[in-house]
This record gives sequence, C-alpha cells and structure tokens, in this order.
Amino acid sequence: MFKTILVSYDGSDHAQNAFDAAAAIAKSFGAQLHVAHTPQVDTPPIVIGSFVAGLEVPPSAAQIAEAGAHLAEEIGRRAKDAGVEIAQTHLGRGDPANFTLSVAQQTNADLIVMGRRGLGALGALALGSVSQAVSHGAKCACMTVI
Ligand code: ATP
Ligand code: MG
Repeated sequence: MFKTILVSYDGSDHAQNAFDAAAAIAKSFGAQLHVAHTPQVDTPPIVIGSFVAGLEVPPSAAQIAEAGAHLAEEIGRRAKDAGVEIAQTHLGRGDPANFTLSVAQQTNADLIVMGRRGLGALGALALGSVSQAVSHGAKCACMTVI
C-alpha cells in the first residue's frame, strides 16, 4: 500500500516514536524510508554538544549543520536497530513544516509520519505547530504518533 514513507524528525521522544512506527510500516510494506530534519536553534543539547556549554550567541550555519549530521547519525542507529535502510536523509533550513512538505512532494511520499508534539512540547494533547502545518498542507496520508 505505502511505497514511500517520509518521517519528519526533530529528535524529540515523539519523533523517535514516529521514526520507529515509520520503520515498522516501511518494513512490512517494503516501502522506501526517507527522513526530513530541519536543524533548529533549540535542538537538544546532546546534539549541539559543546555549543550549549560554551556560547551565548545563536549557532552558526556550520553548528546547525553539525547538529543535523549528529541527528542523521542517531537516525542511522535507530534504522539499524529496526532492521531497515534509510533511502535518504534530507537536511533543510528555515521552516520545518515547509521543508517536510517540499521533501514529501519531491520524493513522491504517500505517507508522512511525525510526532504529535516535538521539542517544544508543553501540552500533551494539542498538536504542535509543525505537525499541524504538515497535516494541513500535505497532499498524502499523514500519521501523528504520541
Ligand atoms: P512547537 O514547536 O509548535 O512549539 P512542538 O515542538 O511540541 O511545538 P512540533 O514542532 O509541531 O511540536 O513537533 C511535532 C513533530 O513535528 C515532531 O515530533 C517532528 O516529527 C516534527 N518536527 C518538528 N520540528 C521539526 C524539525 N525541526 N525538523 C523535522 N521535523 C520536525
Ligand atoms: Mg517544535
């Protein structure tokens, strides 16, 4: 049924659960698995590493790119654990929802999987701004994972 699955990944617990769900679905349908990630200033400390400890200015483009590369590594490990291959990891800049939607079009994704909330999670029930914008703008099926 699903041929190309795109996971929108920000490193949050919800996104990790979304990745695992997407990997399981990809495995059972033999679908290609793509990941879209837009590194943000508020990416978790474990990803940005020394930047958080040492600097008080916003991260540079290089530091954001490095954070993205660490996240790609983390995703690679999760994929290996799940026994699936990632077709491609797409690293974007700017607005994460727009980037996810453009990767979905570019890859011809027929399912987008994302966390219900992300790193900014304050309320457990409402959708986050990215999951809301992606669900609103997507031209394919969307799944939000808790
Ligand atoms: P908000 O950001 O609106 O304060 P939030 O962080 O709780 O709230 P979202 O940002 O909408 O909620 O996160 C929901 C899901 O959207 C995440 O679990 C992830 O799947 C995806 N997402 C969020 N930010 C990014 C990002 N920078 N790159 C890729 N995917 C993202
Ligand atoms: Mg967020």
